[in-house]
Amino acid sequence: MNGALAPAFAPDPGRICWEGPAGRITRPPYAGPFAESPPMPPVFPAHPLPRSRGVFCNRTLNFRSLRAIGYDMDYTLVDYRVEAFERQVFDFALERFRAEGWPVELLVFDPGMVARGLIIDTELGNVVKANRFGLVRRAMHGTGPMDFARQRQVYSGTLVDLAEPRWVFLNTLFSLSEGCLYAQMVDLLDQGRLPGAMGYRDLYRRVRAMVDAQHIEGRLKDRIIAQPESCVVLDPEIPLTLLDQRHAGKKLLLITNSDWTFSAAMMTYAFDPFLPAGMTWRELFDLVIVGARKPDFFTDHAPFYEVVTGDGLLRPAVGPLLPGRAYVGGSAAQVERDLGIQGDEILYVGDHMFGDVHVSKSALRWRTALVLRELEAEVAALEAFKEVEREIAQKMAEKERLEALFSEARLGLQRVRGGYGPQPGLGAGELEVRLQELRARLLPLDGEIAPLARAATELTNSRWGLLTRAGNDKSHLARQVERYADVYTSRVSNFLHATPYVYLRSPRGSLPHDPSSPGGTALAPAPEAAERDLTD
Ligand SMILES: [Mg+2]
Repeated sequence: MNGALAPAFAPDPGRICWEGPAGRITRPPYAGPFAESPPMPPVFPAHPLPRSRGVFCNRTLNFRSLRAIGYDMDYTLVDYRVEAFERQVFDFALERFRAEGWPVELLVFDPGMVARGLIIDTELGNVVKANRFGLVRRAMHGTGPMDFARQRQVYSGTLVDLAEPRWVFLNTLFSLSEGCLYAQMVDLLDQGRLPGAMGYRDLYRRVRAMVDAQHIEGRLKDRIIAQPESCVVLDPEIPLTLLDQRHAGKKLLLITNSDWTFSAAMMTYAFDPFLPAGMTWRELFDLVIVGARKPDFFTDHAPFYEVVTGDGLLRPAVGPLLPGRAYVGGSAAQVERDLGIQGDEILYVGDHMFGDVHVSKSALRWRTALVLRELEAEVAALEAFKEVEREIAQKMAEKERLEALFSEARLGLQRVRGGYGPQPGLGAGELEVRLQELRARLLPLDGEIAPLARAATELTNSRWGLLTRAGNDKSHLARQVERYADVYTSRVSNFLHATPYVYLRSPRGSLPHDPSSPGGTALAPAPEAAERDLTD
């Protein structure tokens, strides 16, 4: 397989020079005062965390310079059992559709059917996955996966632009029931089984309105409040994380779209048992803002109402916001003004790609942290796949090498036949033999790569693959994270281990021309490869 072939054109040693000043740079080993720092025992007992629990940094963030940290509640401070929660929303919505006479008896909630970061194409009734450039890389119509040829036919001239109303981005785990319901409803619409004249867009509006109604109506909330253990995942480290931050001098804010009754019940259940005796969740926060109407909260100037009794009685808030109080509505502008903080002095932590992170970053330049619960499975899958990934990279490097030789031999044959330009050292017959030989090597190599590459695109979800990847590239979700989230992590308690004093530094951004970037076809062969081909 790896037998070397001499290049069809001999390199001109007078023109190609692999040696230069960079090759002569030598660096003596560093022998400064800290080179041999003595090991120090940890202050707290060692509590190693897997990489999947890391805080990943897009833009350098110094916690010491933060004066305030704001938190969303649902799926941020309070984590839910996704499947149980979304199945409940799905079933309630289905019940309502059934009451309206829709034939939805056979519809079922399938948590793997869609994923956060996918995009609904409301014009064509599809769910798609796009890469960072907005190119569609996978699609399904209704619940049926679209084959590659069909997908190319439908989307070859289309770029996903989330600013257009055609596209609906699945921003949060709350979107799973909506996406799953819509896909199955498209099947019913195609079968002509839905009542009234309706297109894919109208259908989306109906589904969205029904799912939203379940979140707003009391039935879902009452059930969760009555049995929080059925839906809430307790994480005792989250209250401790916030305690540390508060004692480190940060002002803490709760800013949630949920209403007072639901928020108070969830926070009491998830926080109070894990706080010091006699302390409640209310004492952690300088400000509690419920019914915040994000993302408008970040851009509009709505008035605040104060929550004056435990059961949620309201009165208009007059004057500046007061510490320790709870409010409804309002605006980020007034929070900044009354707290005397602004822009990069406040970090906002949330799980909603648009409502929490995109708008607070774009409108106010707040520092942002995205909670991406799925990251733990994503990172674990990538770790487990490392060996196969290495094998793919090796085989791809070999494929690129053979393809380069193939192109060169083909060009040589073209010039021999055309009688122009510098002529290769091989005759037409020899070049044809070489092309055949290269074809015979490439074919089985492709056969070896294909199943490995397919396995890479099916990690964590056989339909859609990893959240952050689309084919060989970053996904549209990954691009959003990169643009709007300064840091991202799987859960708030990962900040506990980082401490409130951490200085998070972003890695050096990589570019395709960096020497360490894997893949891609180099314009010139690496020196060792050229040497090997010449000497063999
Ligand atoms: Mg949330």
